[in-house]
Amino acid sequence: MNHKQALKHNVFKIISQSAKKLNLDCYVIGGFVRDYLLQRGTPKDIDIVAVGSGITLAKEVSKNLPNLPKVQVFKTYGTAMLKYNDIEIEFVGARKESYSKNSRNPIVENGTLQDDQNRRDFNINAIALDLSENNYGELLDPFNGIEDLKNKIIRTPLNPDVTYSDDPLRMMRAIRFATQLNFKIDSKSLEAITRNNERIKIITKERIVVELNKILESQTPSLGFLLLEETKLLQHILPELIALKGIDEIEGQKHKDNFYHTLEVVDNISKHTKDVWLRWAALLHDIGKAPTKKFSKKVGWTFHGHEFEGSKMVYHLFKRLKMPLNDKMKFVQKMVFMSSRPIVLAQDIVTDSAVRRLVFDAGDYVDDLMTLCEADITTKNPKKFNKYHNNFKIVRSKIIEVEARDQIRNFQPPVSGEEIMKTFNLKPSREIGQIKEAIKEAILEGEIPNEYEAAFKLMLEKGKKLGLTPINI
Ligand code: ATP
Repeated sequence: MNHKQALKHNVFKIISQSAKKLNLDCYVIGGFVRDYLLQRGTPKDIDIVAVGSGITLAKEVSKNLPNLPKVQVFKTYGTAMLKYNDIEIEFVGARKESYSKNSRNPIVENGTLQDDQNRRDFNINAIALDLSENNYGELLDPFNGIEDLKNKIIRTPLNPDVTYSDDPLRMMRAIRFATQLNFKIDSKSLEAITRNNERIKIITKERIVVELNKILESQTPSLGFLLLEETKLLQHILPELIALKGIDEIEGQKHKDNFYHTLEVVDNISKHTKDVWLRWAALLHDIGKAPTKKFSKKVGWTFHGHEFEGSKMVYHLFKRLKMPLNDKMKFVQKMVFMSSRPIVLAQDIVTDSAVRRLVFDAGDYVDDLMTLCEADITTKNPKKFNKYHNNFKIVRSKIIEVEARDQIRNFQPPVSGEEIMKTFNLKPSREIGQIKEAIKEAILEGEIPNEYEAAFKLMLEKGKKLGLTPINI
């Protein structure tokens, strides 16, 4: 089969001519070919395998490209990379690999194209397109990856037990591709992943997180998390989620299964945001429920304080997974901490002051918080579902109203502490805090507008009550 149209970009001709000059064969392989065959849009990365030195080929290609791009050489891996316009092109020499038990880094020897295709993770990633002049565009598919693409299946070229045990990162990759492409993992592969799940321990946290993020960024992330759970990988990676699994029943009273609920929330939110951190927040919003779960005869199941507990757990989880402990983490913590706030509004009549308080506490994150809370509505009772959503609509429009009127987001007190000190001739003291708090409360309650004059007047009244006398007024 010839697929010249896949190679219509002028860079392929240049690579082909460069290879000819060096008298070596080379091929496009992996994601580029797979995504072309799946018609998944234009890929940004191209992987080239050369039967010979990938580094030498990269240098030759660079000489022949109009912008003479810099070649980045990764000596340890025997690979080289260059950027041409927006495209990253990676060059590697065809290789044969053998693995030891304790590392995912193989011992490498030079090999043939076939050797190189054998070392690829999945049949769909082992399809190559020939770049040599005589067979330009010829498809080389020894494991029938094309058939797997048609049948939407992830399968390994060699014995899956060996493939996954050699490099356990492939277990995560299998699940990630299944989620991104909406493919099934072949049952033999799935069994092998389950058998080898413990091997994930030799993979660095950073690499695991790369795959987790890709799963979370997919259209339906739950597919991936269900597979991680089924293969028992999740137990090693995010035990906090496993702890949410199951339904307890005491005296006929049950609570919902918070694991499946969480996955529903993640899928819901993914329809409304591409922000991976907001998706993380959805994934983790209920993790505090496992350690705070209690049963009492009077009220049944409760999870008091789970939002606070959950936000603390976010820090430990991020730390364990070597994720950034920066403002992104704080954002996730804040979302988890505030995740029950709007739902309380959705159940009752929405008052202006409740909305003002919400905007005050959530600040710039209020819209994200609303998105999270809307996604959190997974009730199967259509009456409740509509009621909550309608109330959230009211909350959203009230947020806009309150914002326009009161500027509560990023609240700055209209009367400063300094002004209070000056007015009453005070040194730094408790009274200043009390007056400031009274002004803030009055604004949030809607008793006074968020304006200087009203706040100043209230300051005088409050000061008087505290036995203070203003000077020069
Ligand atoms: P994407 O860009 O969507 O992640 P990709 O297939 O291009 O998809 P890369 O990680 O860039 O993924 O890998 C390029 C190719 O290298 C793959 O298609 C596969 O053939 C091979 N590959 C990558 N990682 C592994 C691995 N751990 N084991 C075996 N082969 C791998």
